[in-house]
Amino acid sequence: MNIPFHKPLIEEDDVAAVVETLKSGWITTGPAVKAFEQAFCDYTGASHALAVNSCTAAMHLALAALDIGPGDAVITSPYTFVATAEAIQYVGATPVFVDIREQDSNIDPEKIEQLVRNWKSSSYSHLRLRALMPVHIAGHPCEMAAIMKLAREYGLAVVEDAAHCLEGEIKNYRGSSGKIGAIGDAACFSFYATKNITTAEGGMVAANDERLAEKMRILSLHGMSRDAWKRYSNEGSWYYEILARGFKYNMPDLLAALGLSQLRKVERMHALRKRCAQILYQELKEVDEIILPQEPDDITHAWHLFIIRLRLETLTITRSQFIERLKEMGVNTSVHFIPLHLHPYFRQQFKLRKGDFPVAEQVYESAISLPFYPAMSDEEVRYVADCVRKVAAHTRRSV
Ligand SMILES: *Cc1c(COP(=O)(O)O)cnc(C)c1O
Repeated sequence: MNIPFHKPLIEEDDVAAVVETLKSGWITTGPAVKAFEQAFCDYTGASHALAVNSCTAAMHLALAALDIGPGDAVITSPYTFVATAEAIQYVGATPVFVDIREQDSNIDPEKIEQLVRNWKSSSYSHLRLRALMPVHIAGHPCEMAAIMKLAREYGLAVVEDAAHCLEGEIKNYRGSSGKIGAIGDAACFSFYATKNITTAEGGMVAANDERLAEKMRILSLHGMSRDAWKRYSNEGSWYYEILARGFKYNMPDLLAALGLSQLRKVERMHALRKRCAQILYQELKEVDEIILPQEPDDITHAWHLFIIRLRLETLTITRSQFIERLKEMGVNTSVHFIPLHLHPYFRQQFKLRKGDFPVAEQVYESAISLPFYPAMSDEEVRYVADCVRKVAAHTRRSV
C-alpha cells in the first residue's frame, strides 16, 4: 500500500458547483461569496464573516483593522506555521512568543498571564502589547475562557489562528455558542488544499464586532467604500471612494462556490475524520512507545491533524528514522511544526535561540503527523496504525 500524506475530498457536487459558477458569467467576488459568508456565519455562530484569499490575508486584515502597527507587540505561539508570525510583521508589529503546554500543544494561558502581568519588567517593555493570537493546533481549541478573560482585563484584542479549527468548539462556553469563530474578536480560517474544507487557496475571517468586520471588508478590497463588486452589476453605480490604504484580498466566486459546496458537507467530513481518529486510537492505544492526541470532554476537536509523539527514550531509533521506516512501508507522514524560533530568520531577527521555548522544542522533536483525512478508507487507516505499531515493536529499547 502507498498512502499519501494528504488527498483532498473533492466530489461530483464540488465539481458541479465550480462549473456552474464558471458558466454563470460572474467568476470573481459576487453572489457565491455572499452565500459562502452567510453559510459560514450560520455554521460557526460568528456575527460576521469575510471571505478572503488566504488565512494569512485574514490574519493580516484583522491586525490591520485593529490598528496594530509599529511599536506594538502581539503574543503568539512558537509552535505554529510561519504565517501567524509573518502576519504580525506585515503590520509592522513584533511577534512575542510564549511557550506551549504539553497536554494539547497549545499556547499556555498561564505563561501568557505571567508575561502580561509582568510586561513592564519584561524585555518587551518598550513595546505596547496589543493582542493575543492563539493558534488552535491540530484542531484542538485553545483554552479560550482564560485567554479571553485576560485579554479583557488588559484591553487586548484576540485574533485566533483557526486555520486548523473549523469544526472546533468549547462546550458550555459562556457568552457565545462556543464554536470557534464566535469567541474571539476575530478568528481566521484557512481553506488551503490540506485543510478541513478547501477552496484550493482561500480563507475566512469571522468577527464578532460590526465595526471591525466593516473595516476589514473595506481593507480587503483596496480600501474601497461599499460593496465594490456591486459597482459592475445592475444594482450598483459606478461611484466609489477610497477610504483607506487597503489590500487585494477578496475571494473570487469560483472558489467560494467550491467553499460553499464543501461547507455543506463539513459535518459528514468531520464525522469521517473522527472515525479515522477512533480507529487510530483503538489500534494504537496500547503502544507504550507513543503518546496519542486527546479529546477532552469539554471540547470538540476539529481533527485537522493527528499528531502522535514518540517516547524517544523507549526507542532505539530517532524520529527521522521512524519517519523513514514508515515511508519504506508506504506511509507518508509529515512534521508539524518546526518551532519558529529555531528558523534562521527568527533567530536572527528576534535574537532567539534553542532552549527559549523548551516545551515547543520537546513536542516538535518527537512529533509525527500521520496521514489523516476523510478520503482514507478504514483499511488504509488500519494499515497506517499497523505500520506504526510494527516500527515501534521492532525498535523498542529492551529494559
Ligand atoms: C495553513 C496554516 C495557515 C495559513 O493558511 P493559508 O490559508 O495558507 O494562508 C496559518 N496558520 C496555520 C497554523 C496553518 O496551518
